[in-house]
Amino acid sequence: MYRNFIGGRWIECANGERFQDINPADNEEIIGEFQRSIREDVVNALETAKEAQKEWADTSPIKRGQILHGAAQLMERRSENLAKLLTREEGKTLVESRNEVNKAVNIFKFFAEQGRRLNGEVIPSEKKDTFLYTLKIPLGVVSIITPWNDPIAIPAWKIAPALISGNSVVFKPASLTPLLGLRLTGILDEAGLPKGILNYVIGSGSIVGDEMVTNRLVDAVSFTGSYEVGHLIYRKAALNMTGTQLELGRKNVLIILEDADIDRAVELAVKGAFGETGQCCTATSRVIVIKKVVSKFTERLIERMRHLKIGNGLDENIEMGPVVSESELAKDLEYINIGKKEGGELILGGSILEGGEYDKGFFIKPAAFTEVDPEMRIAREEIFGPVLTVIKAGNFEEALSIANNVEYGLSASTCTNDLGKVHEFVRSIEAEG
Ligand code: NAP
Repeated sequence: MYRNFIGGRWIECANGERFQDINPADNEEIIGEFQRSIREDVVNALETAKEAQKEWADTSPIKRGQILHGAAQLMERRSENLAKLLTREEGKTLVESRNEVNKAVNIFKFFAEQGRRLNGEVIPSEKKDTFLYTLKIPLGVVSIITPWNDPIAIPAWKIAPALISGNSVVFKPASLTPLLGLRLTGILDEAGLPKGILNYVIGSGSIVGDEMVTNRLVDAVSFTGSYEVGHLIYRKAALNMTGTQLELGRKNVLIILEDADIDRAVELAVKGAFGETGQCCTATSRVIVIKKVVSKFTERLIERMRHLKIGNGLDENIEMGPVVSESELAKDLEYINIGKKEGGELILGGSILEGGEYDKGFFIKPAAFTEVDPEMRIAREEIFGPVLTVIKAGNFEEALSIANNVEYGLSASTCTNDLGKVHEFVRSIEAEG
């Protein structure tokens, strides 16, 4: 059983309730039991963080950086073990997990050095005897709420900058993947982070997360997750005028022009759409292909998808792991149905994988739709699973117009050998977080 971490101690939640974290590739494996915390636990964590923050703010940023460096080293030493845990908890392949852990290590190394660069500015004054300058000062207590898909890298890129800047943190990872965040918390404790500076509370978003947003002790909220929850948090935090940082879900595009190397384009589309089982905020979920090359692209896409190795990510040969949970699998299947009903042509995949080890996990055949109209829901809404839509465009200008004609975009890419088109793409594409 895993506990919350508040004020430097591992403690049980106030109501003593727990929930289970299971391996999405092997549902018989229970990764652990975690606290189903309530508002009281959050208030305890926030008060503890408030109390501890002043001394941390007074600690030299160079010293704070040394602790972050120490944490990076511990993480690096344990990286293989952390990567395996990550695969067991979230389902991504070992290669993807190793990359994610490595990213977390590098984030800590980077922010450790930022301690030396918390510079202010000296500003010229109109008045002779006035010395104008700025200082970077901590915000205070920061609530950090993270999603399940990158359960160590995303907490790292929020916790490290908060800590180096002298803030204290209350951190809630997603209920589907609480273990990697707990390990990160333990590593920071081991590296010498003073008690009360990082507090880990696990529980549901609507209770624990809500308290972390609405409580008046919170000075800032940093959130990564879905657009819908981000929108809700933004509105709630505004009632207290609490600063909010949101990194949300989007609909990402890859434009393939007629002069592109189609084999490379297919490889990029497959990696972008089905890497991390499509459960990545920057996953490619729309490919817009110029009509002239669309059949060639589709044929090769089908061929490549047929050979994708799907299974338990602990097997080094696997290219795509399971979906993270039963509910996410149901969501993916629902979108596949919506796509069929809307008139999209499902050219491959889209059904549950059965037999052998597949029966123990949440495995799905990656899906690709052609004959997709840009107005269809599958072309406009984030699916967050291994579902790719292929849309035809007459020319580059039309492709750009389709790409930009969605409510939101986060990442975008293009395949072409024409450098001029690349520059035009960068200037014209609307993709922001
Ligand atoms: P989510 O459902 O929005 O949940 C994210 C976090 O918010 C979880 O910890 C969740 O807790 C918590 N939460 C839920 N309801 C809440 C509420 N009312 N108040 C406060 N917190 C609440 O997102 P997800 O399904 O975990 O993650 C997938 C989404 O994240 C996708 O949309 C993806 O694009 C996005 N994402 C964006 C980025 C980026 O950098 N832009 C990176 C990765 C992922 P529970 O787990 O307990 O529900």
